Order: sequence, then structure tokens, then C-alpha cells
Amino acid sequence: MAKIIINKNNFYHNLNQIALKTGSIDKIAIVLKDNAYGHGVEIIGRLASEFGIKHAVVRDYKEAAIIKPFFQTILVLGDQAVLDDSCSFTLNDLADIENAQSGAKVELKVDTGMHRNGVAMDDLPIALERIKAKGLKLVGVMTHFRSADEMGSELFWQQKQFEAVKAQIRVTGYTNVRFHSHNSAAILRTKTFSEDLVRVGIAAYGYNELPETFDKVLLKPVMKLVAGKVATRTLKAGERIGYGGDFTAPKTMTVSTYDIGYGDGWCRGNMFSPYMTAEELPILGRVSMDFISLESVKEEVCVFDDAQKAAEQLGTISYEILTAMSKDIERVVI
Ligand SMILES: *Cc1c(COP(=O)(O)O)cnc(C)c1O
Repeated sequence: MAKIIINKNNFYHNLNQIALKTGSIDKIAIVLKDNAYGHGVEIIGRLASEFGIKHAVVRDYKEAAIIKPFFQTILVLGDQAVLDDSCSFTLNDLADIENAQSGAKVELKVDTGMHRNGVAMDDLPIALERIKAKGLKLVGVMTHFRSADEMGSELFWQQKQFEAVKAQIRVTGYTNVRFHSHNSAAILRTKTFSEDLVRVGIAAYGYNELPETFDKVLLKPVMKLVAGKVATRTLKAGERIGYGGDFTAPKTMTVSTYDIGYGDGWCRGNMFSPYMTAEELPILGRVSMDFISLESVKEEVCVFDDAQKAAEQLGTISYEILTAMSKDIERVVI
């Protein structure tokens, strides 16, 4: 059977590296959205909490319910605010204030230049007024960077904008508000961290997406995908494999099918530049919904143990390879 192996030591290694940057594990909020980047929200939530992480970030309230026992605070990025002791809800827009339940804990997202979510800086006074009128508890103010993983001055420009936001919030008299803006790329490149929290996703799962020009923080991939053997056969030269018969055996070959395919979230790719597995076996012919073919008789093969390397071959990014993994694949912690 196909399995996702979760390497606990690697996960803890990454969290330690991030803690060296933040100065304290209390400042780490682990981002568990989208099934913990495909790793499994419950498994990663539990492991993070055993490590001592106190804060988490999820996409919706349903994910929050799964990990509630593990964390002191949970920030929900994309659901309407309701009364809840441990959850706070992101206000992405002025309309979110109107839709929030009175008394709910909220964190205001401010658009400092990414222009995706968050209230405009000019709308900050109106937002604060309406939050108050609605009786919401403002517990955080946040922003998101658009170019934290690129050289150039964009990040510094957005950081300056956010400093202005902080000043405005403080003048309004708020003292118990946590400020946060850093994602993985921002915290990995930072030399001095002074905010209250980092929202760290991809780095915790083992990937540093910064270009080589930055100091490298060594991170270790947490996920490994293995597939199990279904059937083995010997092909004569000239026989062809799979849909369309795109691969033709150049010689007598022993090939097996393994139980992973695009139905499990594995990328279908392009048969003209076949994907090489972690063990350097090219996928032969087309990827099926549930199967791939390889020249191997091994009971189990490793499809990838480094999503960044897999992503390079497949023309995408580590995030997409990881989050695509089906929830139905068994997760095993080692
Ligand atoms: C996904 C997300 C993050 C984490 O980003 P990484 O690059 O994976 O660290 C942080 N903040 C917000 C608002 C996000 O949506």
C-alpha cells in the first residue's frame, strides 16, 4: 500500500532551527492549513504540541476543531468569526467585521502591498471603529508579504508599511494585541526578530524556498511518499506499457506496477520527460489514476523524499506537491 512516512526527528529539527531565529518556541505558530500541507493535520498538530508549540494557524473552523486539544491559540484564516475560547478569526475585509459574532476574538489582516486579502491601510481607522462597535475582541494585527523569498527591497518596503500600522494601532490604545507578519521565507532570512509570532508553514515541513544567495538554514524534509507493488511482469523488446502505449521496452525488461497515481494526488507529469523517483527509476509511460510502472521488483519504492526535487522535475513548487497528497493515503510516523 502507498504510505506517507512522517519523520518526527526531521520535523523537530526544523522547529529547532526556526526557534533559533525567533528566540523562543513560544513565538512559533505552526501553519496547519490544507491538512498540514498534506502531512495530516491531526498528526502534525499532535507532534507540534508534544514539541511544545503553543500556537497554530488553520484555514477553517473544521480544521481548528481537530487540533483544539493541542494548542493554546488557533488562528483561523478563512472562516466567519464565532465565539470560541481558543480560536481567533482573521478579518480579511471590512465585510468580515459585519459578519462576525459579537464578542468573538479577531485578528485584523492589513493589506500592506500584497493586494490579496486584508483591509487597506487607509481603512484602518474605520476598521478599528467598526470592530469596537461590533463588540469584537481584537487580539492580533497581521500582514502577509508578497516577496519574502526574493532579493530586492520589496520586503523592506512592506515591513515599513507594517511598522506604520503598528504605530497606528498603539496610538489607538491597544496594548494586548499580538503583531505578526513573517512566513517561512521572512523568518529564514531575518537576522533580528522582534515581533510576537511567526506563522511558519513550509519551513517546518523541511523546505527553504529562498534563493542560494541567502544564508542557508539546513532544513530536513518531513514527508516521504512510498508506493507498494501490485503486479510484476516480464516484457519482450517492443512491448508497450500503459494508456496509449507510450513507453516501448527497448529490451527484455521486468516491470512492476505500484499503487500510486494522479487519483492519490501524485502529479500526472509529462511522459516525454519521465519523472525519476528518489531511487532514480524513471516512470515508464503514462501515470494512471491509481498506478505507475517502474523497472523494479522491489516490494516498496520511494516516489519522493524531497518534494522540492520532485517539484523541480514536474515544473511546480514543493507546496503543490505536498498539499496535493490525498487525505486517504495512510500516514505513518517514524
Ligand atoms: C500559508 C500562510 C503562511 C505560511 O506560509 P509559508 O510560506 O508556508 O511559511 C503564513 N501566513 C499566512 C497568512 C498564510 O496564508
